[in-house]
Amino acid sequence: MNGPWYEEGPSALWAPYCQMKTAPAPLPVVATRGCRITLADGRELIDGVASWWSACHGYNHPHILDRVQAQLSVMPHVMFGGLVHEPASVLARRLLAIAPGAMSRVFFSDSGSTAVEVALKIALQYHKNLGRSGRDRFVCFSDGYHGDTLGAMSVSDPEASMHRAFRDVVTKHLVVDLPRDSQAVRSLDAFLGANAGRIAGMIIEPLVQGAGGMRFHSAETLAAVRELASRHGILFIADEIATGFWRTGSRFACDQAAVVPDLLCLGKALTGGVIGMGATLATDAVFQAFLSDDPELALMHGPTFMANPLACAAANASLDLFETEPRAGQVSAIEATLREGLAECRRLPGVVDVRVKGAIGVVQLEPGIDVRAMRPRFIERGVWARPFKDIIYLTPSFVISQDELDRLTRAAREVVAGT
Ligand SMILES: *Cc1c(COP(=O)(O)O)cnc(C)c1O
Repeated sequence: MNGPWYEEGPSALWAPYCQMKTAPAPLPVVATRGCRITLADGRELIDGVASWWSACHGYNHPHILDRVQAQLSVMPHVMFGGLVHEPASVLARRLLAIAPGAMSRVFFSDSGSTAVEVALKIALQYHKNLGRSGRDRFVCFSDGYHGDTLGAMSVSDPEASMHRAFRDVVTKHLVVDLPRDSQAVRSLDAFLGANAGRIAGMIIEPLVQGAGGMRFHSAETLAAVRELASRHGILFIADEIATGFWRTGSRFACDQAAVVPDLLCLGKALTGGVIGMGATLATDAVFQAFLSDDPELALMHGPTFMANPLACAAANASLDLFETEPRAGQVSAIEATLREGLAECRRLPGVVDVRVKGAIGVVQLEPGIDVRAMRPRFIERGVWARPFKDIIYLTPSFVISQDELDRLTRAAREVVAGT
């Protein structure tokens, strides 16, 4: 108890996504505000990541803090089995009102990964409840990522993902490439036709595959795979945990392809990045398959902290902000600035691609370049960025100022150029 907490020697913590033996110590952070992260030594970083693109309204937005504080003094939590409360009831209705198509039910859980687990369970049991046995596999896509829990890992790319170590342990699903032309769509159609009897669902990150390397695909590809899923009686699961809430330039990425999923997973920006929460939305057709006099047909799932009132309050406040503040316009302005600010990187050695969609900017480098080594060079420039795999990416908060965003893109140019 002599020095400050962060000087107390080897930490008691096990940090995420890193080799604890060699990883540099994490930076002690003491406060956040707007698009800034304040470190213990007083340095302030401009946040280029928005806390894994969840803090879409910036940190400490007064409206969210106010609504969460009000909820805190009334009812921080109560179990959801046999009880219901206003923040959850209101939030569910509001999510259904903005979701693509006509979804009809919302199942709340704790995180993005659990929202995916719930979707997978629902899809498996849906077919079982309808008396279709043998539909116990999922179609998923190379470079896909759906979370870190076992079920979510099993539908992530088994070879290219960070979960490679588990590829022989998890259930093996049908991993296919995203069909990027009509020839590929026809082959996938044939593949699904031959295997439909054992496929429960197809899961996809619409338009942008995030943790798999910020890979983009077209609205045509998204619409085509949705159509194939319908044709073969396969439930279509849109994992919009990263893409939802305007990150790709529309409220949901599915909206750009007029795609309506059977199941929709939400997380990350759902609460404005303030508290962990996941939601799995289902269509009425899916929900109906669970209604029966037979208790065996019920969905047996119920996290202890399901529909946590503080998380619901944060999510409701976040939805208020999407209604009252000009987020759509901010995202298109960010898109324009990212395009302009990153374009120059194309000419730099080692760069293989520069791409921008909505408030996502990506500079992809040649394989073999150590992008992690670039992390400290961003910090030297007062910027928080976390290059991984073969990419540098910027996913700022939507409230970022022009000046702050310019500093992010300038840092990216300088770091890539090695200056
Ligand atoms: C982050 C993410 C998840 C997992 O969400 P957690 O809240 O980290 O469990 C799942 N799918 C996608 C597409 C994600 O980006």
